[in-house]
Amino acid sequence: MAPSITKHYEYLVIGGGSGGLASARRAAGRYGISAAIIEGSGRLGGTCVNVGCVPKKVMWAASDTAKRVSEAKYYGLDVGEVPKFDWPNFVEKREAYIRRLNGIYERNLQKDKVDYISGWARFAGSNGEKIVEVSLLSGETAYYSADHILLAVGGYAFIPEDIPGAHYGTTSDGFFKMTEQPKRVAIVGAGYIGVELAGVFNGLGTETHFFIRGDTVLRHFDPMIQETITSSYIKHGVKLHKQAKAFEKVVKLPSGALQITYEDIDGKSEIEVDALIWAVGRGPNTAGLRLDIPGVELDKKEQIVVDEYQNTNVAGIYSVGDDIGWLELTPVAIAAGRRLSDRVFGGPNFKESKLDYNNVPTVVFSHPEVGTVGLTEPEARQKYGSDNVKVYNSKFIGMYYAVFDDQEKKESTVYKLIVTGPEEKVVGMHIVGEASSEILQGFGVAIKMGATKKDFDNCVAIHPTSAEELVTLV
Ligand code: FAD
Ligand code: NDP
Repeated sequence: MAPSITKHYEYLVIGGGSGGLASARRAAGRYGISAAIIEGSGRLGGTCVNVGCVPKKVMWAASDTAKRVSEAKYYGLDVGEVPKFDWPNFVEKREAYIRRLNGIYERNLQKDKVDYISGWARFAGSNGEKIVEVSLLSGETAYYSADHILLAVGGYAFIPEDIPGAHYGTTSDGFFKMTEQPKRVAIVGAGYIGVELAGVFNGLGTETHFFIRGDTVLRHFDPMIQETITSSYIKHGVKLHKQAKAFEKVVKLPSGALQITYEDIDGKSEIEVDALIWAVGRGPNTAGLRLDIPGVELDKKEQIVVDEYQNTNVAGIYSVGDDIGWLELTPVAIAAGRRLSDRVFGGPNFKESKLDYNNVPTVVFSHPEVGTVGLTEPEARQKYGSDNVKVYNSKFIGMYYAVFDDQEKKESTVYKLIVTGPEEKVVGMHIVGEASSEILQGFGVAIKMGATKKDFDNCVAIHPTSAEELVTLV
């Protein structure tokens, strides 16, 4: 028997995270479309707001502040012993901030007249139907239908199943639930999350064991970034375990500590830690959605297959964000979601609206920070041929460190610009150093506009800054 439909919408969005919220609000707020968002977790904002970018950046700022305090003496400020970090109190403050954001997101939906349905969604009905069943958090079940449906369900972090005791570890989600600071932590995985969390723990005084499969961290980034961050982390005291292919086992001791048996570049060994965090990548939240009912195609990683306009193979069903696995970044999900609503609901002027996934700037909140946009040097050489690629490099000690008495504490800033062709079009920019995350945004605009090296040189430098090096490269 066909379920009785509670309400029909023009636009139904599954997932109240970065992509879903942006798309629903654009559709309803700008184009007056009847729209609803279904969110299962009980709080709006998705990964970024609740267990991603936002609380992570707050923790990064705490760690960065600890570094500054420890360096205050070089500026004539006698702060005495660097004070101990009050983790429990700070986590409470951080979570209060997140709750305020959750409330703002809810009010924004009301302002734009988007209905908020609190519950877990999956497709219902028989083959080909666009009916969504929602297990409401209130305990009831409701059914909704729609002309257009957006899948913006995000992703989850992997825990390797094959390692005995792996489940004693947690993921970045568990990191944000920690109400006490672990004295010793092990982090596995050399990508964004592993590098960021290792930097935070180390900066706040936790003994940090960082297990990576290769010899460098951030292996998908330009070699300059890999080498600079790897050696910087070692210099700052992170205990880096290179070539750590797999753990043999993880055992929980009666004390509550975790004993990890592992093999790395130095051979087989054991350590005891208070917490273990897996940061070995993420997969899409597609398993419980019953996408077989409408017949939405998935790839072999269970990610939703879409075209460049975010269309799935089923007419009227779209997807944006982490569940398609293209570029797992909040501004990407937001931009794709908004452009999709423009195209579907915005009339003839927006018929071709879509996100260009090229030259998206991205940063890693490491210590020091990383910024990158465009091709890495190996990618540029492969794409254009080595003869058509020129690389400008700069490595220097920023002025902030000029008054440091201790040479060891001085940090290098490293910049790389990759250009191609006789006009020297900039196709890649990679920066490591103070304020890289803030510096990159403006250069991202220039590179998106097709800037050449000459355009960079024509811009008068701002002095004295680190970024001025980028417009004076020779
Ligand atoms: P999400 O934001 O994950 O939203 C999906 C929503 O769908 C969730 O709220 C989920 O509960 C809901 N949902 C799932 N299934 C269902 C269902 N069946 N029914 C109802 N609701 C459902 N990106 C950056 O740009 N900068 C950063 O600094 C950054 N830091 C990060 C740090 C960490 C630790 C992590 C994990 C990620 C970080 N990211 C960062 C990535 C960023 O968080 C994601 O790219 C972004 O949140 C993706 O948005 P989304 O809309 O695709 O999914
Ligand atoms: P990433 O894909 O960035 O990194 C995961 C890393 O784990 C891989 O690069 C791989 O490194 C390593 N790895 C994979 N499998 C194993 C294994 N079995 N054992 C040991 N290591 C393994 O994923 P993250 O989970 O770090 O982050 C997910 C996404 O979230 C990112 O891609 C990014 O898009 C987004 N994000 C963005 C942030 C930002 O904008 N600042 C911050 C955090 C997340 P290797 O191959 O070198 O071994």
